[in-house]
Amino acid sequence: MKETTIKKKILGKIVIDLEVCKGCGYCISACPNGCISQDDKFNGSGYYPAIFSNAGPCTGCAICAYSCPDIAIEVWREE
Ligand code: SF4
Ligand code: SF4
Repeated sequence: MKETTIKKKILGKIVIDLEVCKGCGYCISACPNGCISQDDKFNGSGYYPAIFSNAGPCTGCAICAYSCPDIAIEVWREE
C-alpha cells in the first residue's frame, strides 16, 4: 500500500509590546525567517522598537521570544 504524507502548515504570529521593547535587536537577529525588523518611529521611551513586519514565513517557533531580555514578545501558533 502506498503511504501518503500530508504536511501540515504551521501558522505563527507574534505580538510585540512596543512600549516594553527597548530596541536591542536581539529578536531581529534571532528570527530564522526574517519576520522582524526595526521600526522607524520612536516608542514612548525613545527607542526604535522591533516590529513584526513580515508575518508570512513565521512558524511560531518562539526563538524571538526566548531571545528577548524584556519579555516583550508573545507567540501564537496554530496547526
Ligand atoms: S516565532 Fe519564530 S519565525 Fe516567528 S517571528 Fe519569532 S523567531 Fe521568527
Ligand atoms: S529582543 Fe525584545 S527588547 Fe530587544 S528588540 Fe526584540 S522585542 Fe525589543
